[in-house]
Amino acid sequence: MRAFRGDLHVHTALSPCADEEMTPPAIVERAVALGIDLLAITDHNTAENVSAVVMAARQAPLTIIPGMELQTREEVHIVCLFPDVETTLDWQEEVYRRLPDRENREDLLGAQWICDEMGKMLGKLDRLLLTSAAMSVEEAVAAVNARRGLAIPAHVDRPAYSILAQLGFIPPGLGIAACELSSRADPGQVRGKFPGLGDVELIVSSDAHRLAELDGARTRYWLRRPELAEMRKALTGVDERKVRVD
Ligand SMILES: [Zn+2]
Ligand SMILES: [Zn+2]
Repeated sequence: MRAFRGDLHVHTALSPCADEEMTPPAIVERAVALGIDLLAITDHNTAENVSAVVMAARQAPLTIIPGMELQTREEVHIVCLFPDVETTLDWQEEVYRRLPDRENREDLLGAQWICDEMGKMLGKLDRLLLTSAAMSVEEAVAAVNARRGLAIPAHVDRPAYSILAQLGFIPPGLGIAACELSSRADPGQVRGKFPGLGDVELIVSSDAHRLAELDGARTRYWLRRPELAEMRKALTGVDERKVRVD
């Protein structure tokens, strides 16, 4: 068992709101320099750059967790993490079917770059990503769990696109693995402010949209191996596995 520094919410240049410098090799290089051990790639409603980041990290002391930041019908952001790239791409197909068939407004929202593992820009994704999928919070969490994934409502301490802001509470029995706080949040203060969080595990992730926002990962995960099944056990405290926010 050892402690892994994890940042489970990072965007690439594919997210229109992220900087073009967020290429697979640049993210990997910065994460390794900061001592991050586990890093999840979570672009808005897409996972097209996940495999490029996995390949960019192959020789690095860094494990990439494949994922996506889903926007549900209620405008709630949920970080969805999966055990492998294949499952993530299967999930992406499901999400694409539920997104409106509209084009990105690059002039207003920004470019959506698909990259390779060397950081080369291969082209732009045309479909509109910054919008809601026709899927409820409950439906989304159940579908992620059915794929052996982890569903983690994002930045729940923020006033926009958070489950607490949009729904006002966490539906009982929802099946989420944890709640994510934004990078500078104090978990104790957030729990005091939002009693509706109950005893759900709290983690902190960077939600980095540019390299300077990668912060070294405040959350440590005690695991036997750096993989999603172990993270699920750490979030529920199985056999000395645990999660701590610094
Ligand atoms: Zn978000
Ligand atoms: Zn985000």
